[in-house]
Amino acid sequence: MSISQLARSIATSPTLFLNEQARLLRERGEAVIHLGIGEPKNKTPLPALLSAAAKLSAGDIKYSPTDGIPSLKKAVIRYTEENYDKIVAPENVIVSSGAKQSLYNIFYTLLDPQDEVIVLAPYWVSYPEMIKMVRGVPVVVTPEDGRFQPRLIDIERATTSATRAIILNSPNNPSGAMFSDEFLAAIVETCERKNIYLIMDDIYHKLVFGRRWTPAYKFSDRAVETTRIIVVNGIAKAYGMTGFRIGWAIANRRLVEVMTNVQSQVTSCTALVSQSAAEGALNGLQSVVESLRLTIQNNRDVMMQELGAFTGVKCIKPDGTFYCLPDFRAYTGDSVKLSRFLLDKALVVTVPGKEFGMEGHLRLSYAGTVKDVTEGIARIRWALDPTSPSEIFVGDKKLVRDWQ
Ligand code: PMP
Repeated sequence: MSISQLARSIATSPTLFLNEQARLLRERGEAVIHLGIGEPKNKTPLPALLSAAAKLSAGDIKYSPTDGIPSLKKAVIRYTEENYDKIVAPENVIVSSGAKQSLYNIFYTLLDPQDEVIVLAPYWVSYPEMIKMVRGVPVVVTPEDGRFQPRLIDIERATTSATRAIILNSPNNPSGAMFSDEFLAAIVETCERKNIYLIMDDIYHKLVFGRRWTPAYKFSDRAVETTRIIVVNGIAKAYGMTGFRIGWAIANRRLVEVMTNVQSQVTSCTALVSQSAAEGALNGLQSVVESLRLTIQNNRDVMMQELGAFTGVKCIKPDGTFYCLPDFRAYTGDSVKLSRFLLDKALVVTVPGKEFGMEGHLRLSYAGTVKDVTEGIARIRWALDPTSPSEIFVGDKKLVRDWQ
């Protein structure tokens, strides 16, 4: 069997791998707690369901325009005006099968082999792999120890004549940190001065707690045709509609035109029923987003409280998303081993920080229930913290800590 070197070099998605492990354990009847999940638990918002159902009952489900149906693009344009204070034209918008495909289209469209993209650690696992998939080079910039926002000077130093883009995700998966306005303004200025694209992955922008999220556009006085900012967003996280696979990119017309070409050769278009669902979500009552945000904020608070009682674990309070990235280096520097150990001993799924460029940390999700958070952290404490009681109930099984 011949498999290309490039394909062989692409890492397995650790979250999908862990999901599979958790599923297998659950199938065996084990009481697994999943603190690795990357999606909210809510039901699909009703306007989305009704809109998709109307499309289904009409029974006319064919190919759509490659860049998205006009009515969904119109909803995206309105969303952009409301949330970004930016007026864009239909030619600036391309709808794709998830923000993931939007990002892939962007990398494919911007990069020649060996072109570089600056990725800030901690980063979403897919960025480096996607960049490699189009034969580009991810250049990782890591913040000073204990912080989640790299220094501007380090980013500037990492730029070379081969740098084509910087990708930012704020609030950030996996840390939950949101970059400061000063930092954003400086990055926008750097990118526009150096003619580097700034890819803003805004997929979590609605899930922010107690701070105001500012769009990068605010820091540029250029029009959408001349700014270097490219925006990526979607319905997966804010509406909890991960399974519909709808995302979009907003960029200058030429980029959108080329991305549309690329997409037309790969998927022709995005599934029409999903596009209708997305249109329903964007045009429907937005209180569903606020109620999801409040639920997750409450989960974040519970997570912080539970972690606060954990000797040795340090965690920067997340500003948004449904993740946090506590530092477990007081216990071990090897996050892969730690994550494996916690799954084996305590049946808790966590994601090793190494996968996000932050060794010694674990990404914990609070997208599940409050009970998942409290029980999950209690089990991790039991497994690691010698000052915690040595016995714990996992389902109806009593476990006794017999190590350390
Ligand atoms: N960007 C980030 C930072 C993400 O965490 C995710 C989903 N895990 C995506 C993009 C992809 O979103 P979608 O489901 O719309 O492809």
